[in-house]
Amino acid sequence: MSNLNGSQPGNNGQAKGQPALRVIPLGGLHEIGKNTCVFEYGDDLMLVDAGLAFPSDGMHGVNVVLPDTSYLRENQKRIRGMIVTHGHEDHIGGIPHHLKNFNIPIIYGPRLALSILTGKMEEAGVMDRTILQTVSPREVVKVGQHFSVEFIRNTHSMADSYTLAITTPAGVIVFTGDFKFDHTPVDGEHFDMARLAHYGEQGVLCLFSDSTNAELPGFCPPERSVFPHLDRHISQAEGRVIITTFASSIHRVSMILELALKNGRKVGLLGRSMLNVIAKARELGYMRAPDELFVPIKQIRDLPDRETLLLMTGSQGEPLAALSRISRGEHPQVQVKNSDTIIFSASPIPGNTISVVNTIDRLMMLGAKVVYGKGEGIHVSGHSFQEDHKLMLALARPKFFVPVHGEHRMLVAHAKTAQSMGVPADHTLIIDNGDVVELTPDSIRKGDPVKAGIELLDASRNGIVDARVLKERQQLAEDGVITLLAVITTDGVMAAPPRVNLRGVVTTADARKLSIWAEREITWVLENRWNQFSRNTGGKAPDVDWVGVQREVELGLQRRLRRELQVEPLIICLVQPAPAGTPAYKGRADAEPDSRPAPRGRRDGGREGGRESGREVSREVVRDPVRVPAATAAVAAIQAAPPQEDSRAPQEVEPEGRIRRRRSAAVAG
Ligand SMILES: [Zn+2]
Ligand SMILES: [Zn+2]
Repeated sequence: MSNLNGSQPGNNGQAKGQPALRVIPLGGLHEIGKNTCVFEYGDDLMLVDAGLAFPSDGMHGVNVVLPDTSYLRENQKRIRGMIVTHGHEDHIGGIPHHLKNFNIPIIYGPRLALSILTGKMEEAGVMDRTILQTVSPREVVKVGQHFSVEFIRNTHSMADSYTLAITTPAGVIVFTGDFKFDHTPVDGEHFDMARLAHYGEQGVLCLFSDSTNAELPGFCPPERSVFPHLDRHISQAEGRVIITTFASSIHRVSMILELALKNGRKVGLLGRSMLNVIAKARELGYMRAPDELFVPIKQIRDLPDRETLLLMTGSQGEPLAALSRISRGEHPQVQVKNSDTIIFSASPIPGNTISVVNTIDRLMMLGAKVVYGKGEGIHVSGHSFQEDHKLMLALARPKFFVPVHGEHRMLVAHAKTAQSMGVPADHTLIIDNGDVVELTPDSIRKGDPVKAGIELLDASRNGIVDARVLKERQQLAEDGVITLLAVITTDGVMAAPPRVNLRGVVTTADARKLSIWAEREITWVLENRWNQFSRNTGGKAPDVDWVGVQREVELGLQRRLRRELQVEPLIICLVQPAPAGTPAYKGRADAEPDSRPAPRGRRDGGREGGRESGREVSREVVRDPVRVPAATAAVAAIQAAPPQEDSRAPQEVEPEGRIRRRRSAAVAG
């Protein structure tokens, strides 16, 4: 038994055979981002937060990462409601998307978070899909029959943030949400530690606690500590001051506005989220700044540089954010001047570091003074360090402990901290997304996991980029694409020379060689595989599995390219069927000996070649039979189009067959 833990009156007398409380994080573990957690008891299902994450390197063209929500879609009839802890993107960013896919009858949350969420839901057109209900500190809401949730005010980099005490038939769960212990909060809203201690006194079954900074010793410095450092840089600046931070860091933004006022500078805001969040926060009273402090960006250039402060997005080097565009000289209203002081009041989220340092480099090259990095005292974290974690454990006195909101090593570090406070190792679980924590009044265990993974949204935020699409994009980015167009008659004869088209492929092979290889593959498939793909149905023309033919040609060519040129481009073979009896094209391939013939025996021996790793991708491209008629139509369209010069397409292979770049892209889909 934990020596932190006293008696647990709330948990006594529970009959055996009662269902366990199930807690299932679908995101937020082994990562920072897309926090999404499910609480289940009996027939009731309650969600806590639904965030998004940002893509890592290699996720080409992906804007947003969401957790796989198959489990929620399958169980949507049981969803009784959702609790939101605070308004950061990694906690609310997924909600508008989810509302398109499943029902959430009601969402309870802080005023500021729900106000920001409203904007996102309006944009996504899902305002009518749920009810938003704001809560106040210490308010208790009932969700389904089995959950009642008390909102306990906490402190974090975002204003209006809460820790939850969730009362369930199995016991009380304290779910910290994102927190730090800031004893001098910028907005004067203190952490309600008394309430937390009250639950600790009564008996907490399990604590789920934010692990973001679990590796860092000591206490997290208060938000207010950045004030004098920012003040020094702003007051010493000779020209304009440009500051970037997270728009959602309400306290930081408040202090920057206060400092602008103090230093006699007017404020211009750049970046949509900066404008939105500040407007909402001022409207709701979380930020106090006089209207006359702000000057529209178009007029601010009329002011002297020494009276100007520009506050903008871009602290993470996001390519489209204001500061990034300024650093590339692409912003319509703001250009960097030698006298500018540019302050990064944020630290890069892991994964963004390279973009951030590149932005800093570009700004410095333009002549600005750039202030950034840990030593400057211009940024503190919004998440607890180890000593804060100990304080949380001391107040909540949990019987069981589950570290959440962090990468694996952070979870391990946090579990160690808990053990140093007397929570036994076997009362602690380190879990992954999709794991099921089953809690009874006197036990904790991992149940059978549910489906978890990621869904990727592309720039439009409408289309889901699945793993196959992502793999194709990686292949395109790394090795380019080869399209191969073949005309084959329904009686299995090549009727025209294949057209081979390369984009982004670097190879030592000359054009002639590639087109001969393509011919050889087609000829081989027609001679050795035709019976497999063609079936005489008694009608005029035989029934041909063109998808199979295309796949077979792709596989053969892929194998040869990998073996002989060590490249693995995406290969897309399109076959245009021609009527039986069309005269055969006598290939050039027969004219020269094949210096290194492909090892056909392997393919004859079965289809194991098709299972080679990495090759799944391009076969999938044509596996979908719906695409074939469309592709064939597109081929016909290409052939109908007159040949055109295209200076961007230097790697045309078939001499007489110039395929326009744009069209071939359309065929590739
Ligand atoms: Zn947060
Ligand atoms: Zn968070």
